[in-house]
Amino acid sequence: MGRAADFAPHSAGPTKEPPEVRVADAGDARHHRVTAPTPLVERRKIGAFTVHVIQAGGQKLDGGAMFGVVPKPLWEKRIPADERNRIQLGMRCLLIEHPSGLILIDTGAGNKEDPKFKDIYGIENEGRGRTTMLEEGLANVGVRPSEVVLVINTHLHFDHAGGNTRFGNDGKLEISFPNATYIIKRGEYEYATHPNERTAASYFDRNYTPLEAANKIEFVSREKEIVKGVRVIPTPGHTPFHQSVLIESAGERAFFLGDLAPTQAHLPLPWIMGYDVAPLVTL
Ligand SMILES: [Zn+2]
Repeated sequence: MGRAADFAPHSAGPTKEPPEVRVADAGDARHHRVTAPTPLVERRKIGAFTVHVIQAGGQKLDGGAMFGVVPKPLWEKRIPADERNRIQLGMRCLLIEHPSGLILIDTGAGNKEDPKFKDIYGIENEGRGRTTMLEEGLANVGVRPSEVVLVINTHLHFDHAGGNTRFGNDGKLEISFPNATYIIKRGEYEYATHPNERTAASYFDRNYTPLEAANKIEFVSREKEIVKGVRVIPTPGHTPFHQSVLIESAGERAFFLGDLAPTQAHLPLPWIMGYDVAPLVTL
């Protein structure tokens, strides 16, 4: 059985109901034919923190797999499918301006996948020049990758951790955020580096083993406040060691779900992805 071609992974960022689907400006030549959700960057405050939601690109996954046991006549009213039965998704990341430094949650799909792979998963994440949309979004905020001090991965699927590492201009693999400590759940790392027939299509060692080799990972094993007001909380089900991120400041809170609920359409309790390895745990 082929790998990537047969099993899409799970997925990522929120896609909205049909009337609210936002399509990239077709007048921008760079985005010719691109349907990745926009805008590239949205900013807001959470208490004293300024956060930037960065759209790391679009992705399309099989609608049936995305909605598990929910019948198509129900889910297609929420998110329409394309001619290949895929639904449009986004790969949103979050940049937090924290007093201790810049924190990035998840890193999108990165620049290491080939055109065939990107076609299968409908990945549209190229920025201007040789950048990715995540890199372009960071640049729009005025941030260089070297300035990020913490990267938190909710889990290590390629559409959340693919941007951890990158192919440099010389074609060699390098760490995307060279001065950052990467916060990764110990169990997720073990799960990712020991895949089975059902999970292997979503995990690629080059997205995380170079980090361990360079001693860039701080492994966590349970709920933990990483820096004041930013806490990782286990949210298993999508993967056994998935984690979400609670941000609290001055009485305001935000929760970065990761793939606990990949789109707004997944908020009803039984609307759980077929990709989840333990859907009743997700429930
Ligand atoms: Zn995932």
